[in-house]
Amino acid sequence: MTKTIFEKIILREIPANIHYEDDEVIVIDDINPTAPIHLLIIPKKKIETLNDLAEGDTKLVGKLFQVAKNMASKFGIDKSGYRAIFNCNEDGGQTVYHIHLHLVGGRSFSWPPG
Ligand code: 5GP
Repeated sequence: MTKTIFEKIILREIPANIHYEDDEVIVIDDINPTAPIHLLIIPKKKIETLNDLAEGDTKLVGKLFQVAKNMASKFGIDKSGYRAIFNCNEDGGQTVYHIHLHLVGGRSFSWPPG
């Protein structure tokens, strides 16, 4: 099966700016940031979309949010605020089919999203 860009980053086949890594999760800068802080919190397990989550992935997805919280604090956007977003499939704007939580902050965001 073809590797996604994130699998290639996890395997160090292509470079990325890595802020955190453990046996389950890696956190990198988005290559095309949409805010002053734009991190991608990526599980090492490849799950293509949120639709593919299994019961057994509940703890892993919870961990992604715990890591996001820690990163928000580390980058000093916890008090000012931020968004943590999963995009799913075409209408959701997903372009890489390996789930990832976007953590964006450092500016204010409008609602509803465009
Ligand atoms: P999606 O559109 O799937 O929700 O988000 C994919 C994100 O991955 C995009 O924000 C895009 O800028 C980012 N991205 C795509 N290719 C690369 C890459 O090679 N390196 C990094 N660090 N981010 C990437």
